[in-house]
Amino acid sequence: MKRIVIKVGSHVLTENGAIAKTRMLALVELISELKIEQYEVILVSSGAVSAGYTQLPLDRSIVANKQALAAIGQPYLLKMYQEKFERFGLLCSQVLLSADVFEAPKHIAHAKVAIDTLLNNNVVPIINENDTVSIEELVFGDNDRLSAHVAHYFDASLLVILSDIDAFYDKDPNKFKDAKRRAVVNIIDDNELNAEHTPNNEFATGGIVTKLQSADFLMKHGRAMFLASGFNLSNVKSFLIDGEHKGGTLFTA
Ligand code: ADP
Repeated sequence: MKRIVIKVGSHVLTENGAIAKTRMLALVELISELKIEQYEVILVSSGAVSAGYTQLPLDRSIVANKQALAAIGQPYLLKMYQEKFERFGLLCSQVLLSADVFEAPKHIAHAKVAIDTLLNNNVVPIINENDTVSIEELVFGDNDRLSAHVAHYFDASLLVILSDIDAFYDKDPNKFKDAKRRAVVNIIDDNELNAEHTPNNEFATGGIVTKLQSADFLMKHGRAMFLASGFNLSNVKSFLIDGEHKGGTLFTA
């Protein structure tokens, strides 16, 4: 069995403020296909705050409201996942983690036992950061780095990030028409990793920096990361099911 983590961001999962049901269904279908191909799949899913907002439109700029929206939205999000996984005869489960879990080996071990047990019973763990209780200094703040920790500490060989961008480019493709896709990346230089702190750097936009940091962390631990589109799953399917690397970026040391 090949264990992988799939991370899906809120841009992919939401549309006009609501959960993008068709995209969620396509993702669940992909996971069911991967399970037929003998993959063990852990899903890291954002979308709780957006799901909560569709039920109660509180002002998201206030931290307390975001905590409340996460609490409202998380069960709603899982209900939608449950209904979709059921169509493919699969059970899913909810695992809420906070960053401090990864600071204590004892807590990591406890969480890993639960994840292993779920996977051994053919259940799909759906992980999210516990945004209702996460204290500011401890939070990952983005599920890119959370999912990299999940992949490393729960022993997955590959993290798949399904994003609003279909690959990593030599510059931001949303700003530069001549940006070129990088199919394979073996090393990430410090400039790119610390781009947030460097003014006038074309890398310092969007969420690409946290993806590069995640890729760097995984490569340093002998694991790989694949970045591909979450809007169109054909490249990720080709890569994981047919073993063909047509699109997307593979980060591997
Ligand atoms: P998601 O929410 O889907 O995880 P983000 O929107 O946070 O992803 O991050 C992806 C965005 O990063 C892209 O839409 C793109 O505009 C931006 N970006 C900046 N530099 C690059 C780059 N070199 N390659 C790809 N995307 C980049």
